[in-house]
Amino acid sequence: MNVVVVGAGAIGTCAAYRLACRGMAVTLVDAQDPQRSLSAHSFAWVNAVDDGSAPYFALSREALAAHRRLAGEVRGPCWFWPTGNLVWADSPATSRNLIAAAESYRSKGYRAESCTASQARTLEPDLNLGGQADPIVFYPEDAHLHPDLFLTEVQGAARRQGVRLLLGDAAVGIENHTVRLASGVRLHGDVVVCCAGRGTGDLLAEARHAVPLVEPEDPEITTRGLLVRTSPVPSGVTVRRVLHAPGLSIRPHHGRRLVLHSHDVDHTLPADVPTAAVGVLARLADVVPAAEGVTVESAFVGVRPMPLDGRSVVGWLPGSDRLYVVVTHSGLTLAPVLAEIVAREVSGERHELAEAFRPERFAAA
Ligand SMILES: Cc1cc2nc3c(=O)[nH]c(=O)nc-3n(C[C@H](O)[C@H](O)[C@H](O)COP(=O)(O)OP(=O)(O)OC[C@H]3O[C@@H](n4cnc5c(N)ncnc54)[C@H](O)[C@@H]3O)c2cc1C
Repeated sequence: MNVVVVGAGAIGTCAAYRLACRGMAVTLVDAQDPQRSLSAHSFAWVNAVDDGSAPYFALSREALAAHRRLAGEVRGPCWFWPTGNLVWADSPATSRNLIAAAESYRSKGYRAESCTASQARTLEPDLNLGGQADPIVFYPEDAHLHPDLFLTEVQGAARRQGVRLLLGDAAVGIENHTVRLASGVRLHGDVVVCCAGRGTGDLLAEARHAVPLVEPEDPEITTRGLLVRTSPVPSGVTVRRVLHAPGLSIRPHHGRRLVLHSHDVDHTLPADVPTAAVGVLARLADVVPAAEGVTVESAFVGVRPMPLDGRSVVGWLPGSDRLYVVVTHSGLTLAPVLAEIVAREVSGERHELAEAFRPERFAAA
């Protein structure tokens, strides 16, 4: 079977690899170098987020297992870091939410361990927790990626499985499962899998209705986000895992760099991105004082591909058994499990974890 996968971000890359592992002839197309994609710059926290929906918890929990499977197969520089996530609160309201979230996870059998400031410092010796009296929770099953390495390594593995990678040529239309590229080339697939992230709506005229995404200008839901990559921290300074401090999320990146993200900054992101990035960086001194002196190495503004109802979209486009679509706002967490689902469903079997996420729900609406 010939499969054309459009979009070589996290989802398209993993899907192409898994399809090729099943013996399919796969062409993976992207308009640009995937190192410029949102996936390559993402915060890349891998977690089983409890959004209150059992199907999503089941999917994201299996995603952690799928990451481990993929990391076991795709060797090379380490891109998967199952080192957990430390989160703490600084007010009565955030404390209540933190405790309620931890209890909810525990009730589902997902580990969430309450810890003292001194236990947290055993995990992260360079953390400044001051006189932290509010709760601290450690999620040992959470993980993070170095997403640029992840893309490089999985694309390498995909190539070795025979995937043909076509970069720098945009898909400008899909008709009768033939993908038309800007260069004039036409790629015929028995099946086309669309993993174009925010590009999905533009690419598939009919998907504009089948897969409606929140617009970046939406005043209610913030999809735009600023990701700040720092210069290397001084040698001897360690940050080993994802940290969610009040007002600042931090994850380690390779080369002793850190990636920083602040949700509240995303809500009011100014046009002057470099200044906003310096503002985010300024918060680091409070959390990891020993990192003083690092600078902003890069600032990336990305827009989450967020389906209108906040739920991932996975499945055949309504009325088609040749055009398959995957879009999600938690793509680094879900990419490996979604890839396993795509590979199985393109082979003709339904996957139970995808049943709650079908695009038909929008057609019905
Ligand atoms: C601030 C921020 C923080 C985030 N943090 C996390 C996190 O901690 N954990 C998590 O799981 N997720 C997180 N996300 C979301 C995550 O980054 C995305 O869900 C994920 O990157 C989407 O992957 P993708 O492969 O669908 O899309 P992309 O990475 O956008 O890749 C899509 C690719 O398709 C290509 N493309 C588009 N249109 C066309 C076309 N017409 N022809 C050819 N190619 C095309 C693009 O060039 C691109 O390379 C975050 C997002 C933001 C903005």
